[in-house]
Amino acid sequence: MTYLTNLEQLAHEMGVRVRYAPPLPGTMWGVYEHRFRFITLRPGMGMPQLVTTFTHELGHAHFGHSGHHPKTERAANRWAARKLLTVDLLKEHSVASADTMSVAASLGVLPSVVEAFIDTLSMGQIVDLMNYMAELHT
Ligand SMILES: [Zn+2]
Repeated sequence: MTYLTNLEQLAHEMGVRVRYAPPLPGTMWGVYEHRFRFITLRPGMGMPQLVTTFTHELGHAHFGHSGHHPKTERAANRWAARKLLTVDLLKEHSVASADTMSVAASLGVLPSVVEAFIDTLSMGQIVDLMNYMAELHT
């Protein structure tokens, strides 16, 4: 996976600048400042954590969010999940195991991304995915 290269390109296209710099308050992994179109990421994160955080913050940039509310967090998570995953990718990475943790590890993202992605699917897509998994793993 070359998510990071794509994310840096995407940020550039969106006119968003990115820096890796402490200190972020508490245990924050990233923050987006809409006034400056600026994402600050915590240095030293593992790749799945970095990719997940980076894309989430780009989601905030996409919607022009400022501040943190459960509603904007969910919107950023869903946007990020749609940027990172597709149904085909999910199927491809479910061959070894259909467990969310394993699929996420195989994809190189955090499990929350897989969950947010599934949350964006239609009922028809979910049924199709479940049938696919059932066929693979029974
Ligand atoms: Zn957020």
